[in-house]
Amino acid sequence: MHQKTIKSKISFKGVTLHSGTISSIKLIPAPANHGIVFSKVDVKSKNKIPANISSVKQAKLCTTIGNNEISISTIEHLMAAIAGYEIDNLLVEVQGDEIPILDGSSKEFSEAIAQTGFEVQSATKKYLNIEKTITVKDGSKFIVAEPTSKKNLEINYTIDFHDNFIKKQSKKIILDQKGFNEIYDSRTFCLQKDLEKIFKMGLARGGSLDNAIVVSNDKVLNQEGLRYKDEFVRHKILDCLGDLYLCGFPIIGKITCYQGGHELTHKLVSNLFSQKKAWSFLNTKNSILPRSKTDTSKNQLVVNL
Ligand code: ZN
Repeated sequence: MHQKTIKSKISFKGVTLHSGTISSIKLIPAPANHGIVFSKVDVKSKNKIPANISSVKQAKLCTTIGNNEISISTIEHLMAAIAGYEIDNLLVEVQGDEIPILDGSSKEFSEAIAQTGFEVQSATKKYLNIEKTITVKDGSKFIVAEPTSKKNLEINYTIDFHDNFIKKQSKKIILDQKGFNEIYDSRTFCLQKDLEKIFKMGLARGGSLDNAIVVSNDKVLNQEGLRYKDEFVRHKILDCLGDLYLCGFPIIGKITCYQGGHELTHKLVSNLFSQKKAWSFLNTKNSILPRSKTDTSKNQLVVNL
């Protein structure tokens, strides 16, 4: 298996969800072993931010990466598109402080990337194989990463809103191309009753029915309705996929999440890296050996937030 980048430059421009300003980004092919790196082109100093867990600054309703001087917000849907196609090397030039929200999903990013195509590079690709079960808990919320004898990333996600519309939704996705096609166009969402609180936090200034699903009691306010009956849990899987890619490599393992969000996924990735025996690198998806249940159960790590 070889590393890959995109074949040619792609540009996007649009309103941002939280700051409500217009920003533009360029996805630029990058050499082997470069990784996914964001660069703010409207500042002079320290403008390179690698898309990895140590760059994460905060996770209030979106994923923000940065350093002492600059930050770039709402990277998760773009990261999900990059993860969906397992792109290893990419430079993301950003004019602004936030990635454009577009339609609230990773649809436009994914379609443009697929249309441009990929450049296979000579360097060997690395997968991060989960070796040990890691659980991160926050009250009743939890996320678990565990080893799998299959050769893929599986995400099992459950949300329970205790409301009249979203209610409880669960979905399992195997992240191959078919699985990614089931989530890539699922949009971000919020409850109308939470909007006042969100606006008071200074967030969602660019939010509209063009880029988010808004749920009011037992209906959605968007005229076109939902793209899928369970679009909500599909979007949570999309967010999770984007945040997991902050480990810098495609993951081979099984992720189970209940009522999670950006913060919980970030904690999982940082706990994974703090445990050297929790993961290993594989050069190909096919080199995974079958393992017995006892192999996995004796290695457990539980983290309580
Ligand atoms: Zn999202």
